[in-house]
Amino acid sequence: MPRSPLAEVKGNAQPKVRPPAVPSRLPLSGSRLKRGPEPMESASEPAKKRTRGLGTAPQADTLHPRAPRLSTAPQRQCQAAAQRFPRKAGPCPSATALKNQKPVPTVPAQKPAASAAPVAGGKKPGRRPAWDLKGQLCDIKVELQCSRERAQTLGRENQQLRDQLQEAQQQAQALGTERSGLEGELAQVRAQAEQGQQELGSLRARVLDLEERLGTQEGLVHVLQREQLGLQEERRTLTGRLEEQERRLQASEAALSSSQAEVASLRQETAAQAALLVERGDRLHGLEMERRRLHNQLQELKGNIRVFCRVRPVLTGEPTPPPGFLLFPPGPGGPSDLPTRLSLSRSDDRRGTLTGAPAPPTRHDFSFDRVFPPESGQDEVFEEIAMLVQSALDGYPVCIFAYGQTGSGKTFTMEGGPEGDPPMEGLIPRALRHLFTVAEEMSGQGWTYSFVASYVEIYNETVRDLLATGSRKGQGGECEIRRAGPESEELTVTNARYVPVSCEREVRALLHLAHQNRAVARTAYNERSSRSHSVFQLQISGEHAARGLQCGAPLNLVDLAGSERLDPSLALGPGERDRLRETQAINSSLSTLGLVIMALSNKEPHIPYRNSKLTYLLQNSLGGSAKMLMFVNISPLEENVSESLNSLRFASKVRFPLRLGPAETPVVKGISVPAPESPQLGARLWRKGDRCTIHLSFVCGTGHGPQLYIPTYIPLSPF
Ligand code: ADP
Ligand code: MG
Repeated sequence: MPRSPLAEVKGNAQPKVRPPAVPSRLPLSGSRLKRGPEPMESASEPAKKRTRGLGTAPQADTLHPRAPRLSTAPQRQCQAAAQRFPRKAGPCPSATALKNQKPVPTVPAQKPAASAAPVAGGKKPGRRPAWDLKGQLCDIKVELQCSRERAQTLGRENQQLRDQLQEAQQQAQALGTERSGLEGELAQVRAQAEQGQQELGSLRARVLDLEERLGTQEGLVHVLQREQLGLQEERRTLTGRLEEQERRLQASEAALSSSQAEVASLRQETAAQAALLVERGDRLHGLEMERRRLHNQLQELKGNIRVFCRVRPVLTGEPTPPPGFLLFPPGPGGPSDLPTRLSLSRSDDRRGTLTGAPAPPTRHDFSFDRVFPPESGQDEVFEEIAMLVQSALDGYPVCIFAYGQTGSGKTFTMEGGPEGDPPMEGLIPRALRHLFTVAEEMSGQGWTYSFVASYVEIYNETVRDLLATGSRKGQGGECEIRRAGPESEELTVTNARYVPVSCEREVRALLHLAHQNRAVARTAYNERSSRSHSVFQLQISGEHAARGLQCGAPLNLVDLAGSERLDPSLALGPGERDRLRETQAINSSLSTLGLVIMALSNKEPHIPYRNSKLTYLLQNSLGGSAKMLMFVNISPLEENVSESLNSLRFASKVRFPLRLGPAETPVVKGISVPAPESPQLGARLWRKGDRCTIHLSFVCGTGHGPQLYIPTYIPLSPF
């Protein structure tokens, strides 16, 4: 076990304790001489011996009186000896010897006593008389003898003293060594003590630190105890809550197990429902296909080529037309029928009566698939064509034209009124919104649709991109109509932008861009937008991935150039010549359109698509299963009556391309009917609950003459 530095110091110190080594009190040589060296003697022995030696000396003294008392000679001798022994090592050796040792030579001391009686008697020997030379000599001899003896004694003593000195020196040396050892030890002990002190100091600091920490820990313990109490309280609360939760859990578990059973039964039910759903999905798909078929059938019954007439309202600042100028006679079903007829009266100044009075105005009756009086709103117009938009989604090409003289409301019908006025929105934004909505609904049935828009104008038989941006904006670099591929039937316009659209906002942006492009091209002398056809094309692509079905069709919305004729009475200046060329191009393309439609209606083998850029571009959207709708827009003003009649006649030809003349007057049940301006074949869909009825009607006759009305009702099975 390691000893503490303190204990070590003590232990080391103990065995080294020695009696004080005083040189003058060292063991005397006398005793050693007498007894010889005793190696086993303890260090304290010499002192005892010395004491003994000292103790014996007086005895000797009493027996042998000291030399000084005998005579003065020994004193002198002694003085001489003292001179010989310097007082380096303490008192005079003779004196020391005298003190420390017994008087050895008893004989010389006694000898003078025998010869010198007076000494023994206590009296000083008297001085020999001068004559007693012999006596004096004898005394001298005695004294000499005594001196010799003393010299011998002193020599021996000297030798003893030398030995003692040597021994003392050795002892001193040993003691010195011992002392230096002890000093080393002392230094070591001091260092240890110092270290101990330092350690003690650090231990004290540590103790203080520990005490401080103890205090902190105690404080902490108090805090923790308080916390513990709080926690115990909380624990009790939590235990209570836990028990409550456990009770609830048990209740929940019970509910869960019952729910699980319920879930299992619901799963079974769900599986059954899923199977049913699949079956229903199949059925729905079948029904959807059936709906498409029926829808198409219905549209075909309504006519793949339909004509609507729209009369714009009189604008502020325009003269009010005379009463009865434009009439909208009710249909066969009375005023509840949607208007399909229009009557225009024209007073012809060139005609006169025999009396010279002006001839009564001539009435011109027209009937169309639908007639929209001036008060009809954009929404009402769109309602009628929403079905066609559905046809486009179902995969049938659709073409909607706006035909009429400039200012009759074609652009208003197609694009709408001023931007940002929702009720005034035209067919294009409404049709696209409808498409996006229906496409979204059909996505629930697994159909995904994509739409790509393009917008071009055909001016003087040149095609120009209305969606051009950047440097091409307004310039409209020449575009060409090309087949998409060598084998492809699809047509594309080179250099034109085809922009994918998916929301109304994008469509609005495109219409805005087209409007800007037109504005850039417009000049003061040439209202080009009125003198060109604007063709908005939307390529619709639908896919039913799960059933591997695809459908695609273009929806075309065409704002045709103004149909007005150039007044032949006008003088032909350079500007008019350009205008004439323009007009001829327009008239040519419009009449080509009429011819194409008639050829399609008459199922002629050759369709003159190539005769104009417009029909060439639209050839895939005309004919076959394609649906065509033409709006004939007319002005309500009397001053435009001539152009209005032209437009209405053109539209009637489009609607009934068969030329009906007096020779071809139809005879029905033996009744001869005068050739009408336009016979009316109407098809209407009546819906009551889930039952539908198609109502076909054929009306022949002029507005005022006899009419033949043959109603036909075809009930349709519910779908
Ligand atoms: P077009 O395109 O045939 O030349 P617009 O569409 O530009 O004719 O119409 C000429 C003007 O008549 C425009 O100011 C237009 O806002 C207005 N207009 C046309 N149709 C209607 C209508 N149904 N209701 C209100 N204003 C109309
Ligand atoms: Mg216009």
